[in-house]
Amino acid sequence: MEFSHFKKKAKGFECLGPSSVAEAASYSNSCNLSLWMNTRYKAPVDHEFLAKWELRHAAVLNHLKLNILDKFPHAEIDMELPLQSVNLCGNTLFGVPDAICRFPNGQLMVCDAKSGKKRVSHWIQVGLYGHMIQGLARAKGAPIPDIYGFALCYGNFDQEGGFNKNNIEFLTITGPQSLAEVLPEPTRKRIREILSISGSDDLPLANPNSQNCRFCKWKIGCDQAFQGYGNKVVDVSEFF
Ligand code: SF4
Repeated sequence: MEFSHFKKKAKGFECLGPSSVAEAASYSNSCNLSLWMNTRYKAPVDHEFLAKWELRHAAVLNHLKLNILDKFPHAEIDMELPLQSVNLCGNTLFGVPDAICRFPNGQLMVCDAKSGKKRVSHWIQVGLYGHMIQGLARAKGAPIPDIYGFALCYGNFDQEGGFNKNNIEFLTITGPQSLAEVLPEPTRKRIREILSISGSDDLPLANPNSQNCRFCKWKIGCDQAFQGYGNKVVDVSEFF
């Protein structure tokens, strides 16, 4: 890795977002080196991409709130409330759930707005927020809140960036088992494994492949980035 391309996070501010952990846990990007870099370095910002993402996110966020108000009219809603950092398996996690719903009986629902494709990592991400909220309540000496469930709101955009308001999806996983559904034990085990690697001082091995490297923000400095398959189609006819 050519570290000079990137700015190091200040000492004491090395942290991970639940979305990065969730991507690694679901193999959206299973490169340990990428997660290790996420913990310690800041990637260059593509301001145009970021501006477009923020506009799309704001549009879906509004629909998330409208859906919550429609389906859960008695809920109090905290929108985009930054959570205090927590320690998870030797790593600092910092995150901002798009919405936290508080019901009159004290239960919570954690919600996020997404403007891209549906991914399993999105459910893992809201599950991690759920545990962060529970852990923070316990640290304050407050009762650990019961999780009612999780919600994801997906908004779709066409190629030109136009918003399709007829194609909004509001999905929920609710009930007493909802935390276990979004974070089943094999996923928790995987999260413990990857966090033990990203929390270590040792530089981990990279796992370059087309999926991991395609949108990796460390690619500019990574001497192990996947370089493509050369011949795109390989003839395997003789195996038949
Ligand atoms: S470019 Fe590929 S190999 Fe390098 S850190 Fe990213 S995912 Fe890993």
